[in-house]
Amino acid sequence: MKACLFAGDRLVLTDGACALPDLAEARGWGAGEAEWFPATASRPAATDIAPTAAGRGAHAPEAPCSRAGTAAAIPAPAPTTPGVSALAAQAAPGWTPPEGVAAIGLRRALVLLQEPDLTVALTAAHLARWRRTSRFCGVCGAATEPSPRHQAMACPACGHLSFPKVSPAVIVQVTRGSRILLGRSRRHPHGAFSVLAGFVDPGESLEDTVRREVEEESGIRVRRIRYFGSQPWPFPDSLMVGFAAVYGSGTAVSRDDELEDVGWFAADALPPVPPAYSIARALIDDFARRNGVDPARIPTWKRR
Ligand SMILES: [Zn+2]
Repeated sequence: MKACLFAGDRLVLTDGACALPDLAEARGWGAGEAEWFPATASRPAATDIAPTAAGRGAHAPEAPCSRAGTAAAIPAPAPTTPGVSALAAQAAPGWTPPEGVAAIGLRRALVLLQEPDLTVALTAAHLARWRRTSRFCGVCGAATEPSPRHQAMACPACGHLSFPKVSPAVIVQVTRGSRILLGRSRRHPHGAFSVLAGFVDPGESLEDTVRREVEEESGIRVRRIRYFGSQPWPFPDSLMVGFAAVYGSGTAVSRDDELEDVGWFAADALPPVPPAYSIARALIDDFARRNGVDPARIPTWKRR
């Protein structure tokens, strides 16, 4: 059985590892009286992002993993895993990893871990954070405990159940002829752009969110909204729902506090964009392919 040990939001791995440790190894790290809980990713580990096979499994691990040096944008074959499980736990507060072991950020894990460990680690990270932030009942304030019947934290005092929170967000490929609409966020690495995205508000359909977010962030109104694919994105608890839409009207101008710049780009003149694992990149690669550009030639941003 594999193990996902977290120190806060950080995943604990052996230095240089591109795989999760076994449970016995992780237990040997002395993380205190960690309570281990099951985390199962019951979907294919490889891409199911339609309509093109980019994304999951296509990331290029860094040395010393076997595929080090392969181009990040080359989609790997899409192996499927019927269900991968691990046990996960939160290290005691103040715990210090032993020699040769380190706690790394989840975005770093995106680069380091191979499938299917990456998928189960991201699922475990989502669950671990939910458990860590659901220790008290939101109704009566009593300490909660894991429900024996549901994937939920249960209140022994009032019976309230708190289920894992999933926050849906849309992410949109907007095209106008042979160009794509991209924005530059203050959170992106310098000079890097991506497709527009935003969280779903209460009362909105996903299509409503697509229309609102694109117009709020860029001034562009879109039409012909169609579903593209989705991706769990536990940073910290999102489900990214991808859409493609085409230009309807308006002039691209940065109108959102979060965006420094927004504009139209041709497939053969793209700025640095997100790495291959993300649905953002799958949307951009799809646009590039449809316009005759090999996604391997698209510049990929590097995190600071
Ligand atoms: Zn309660």
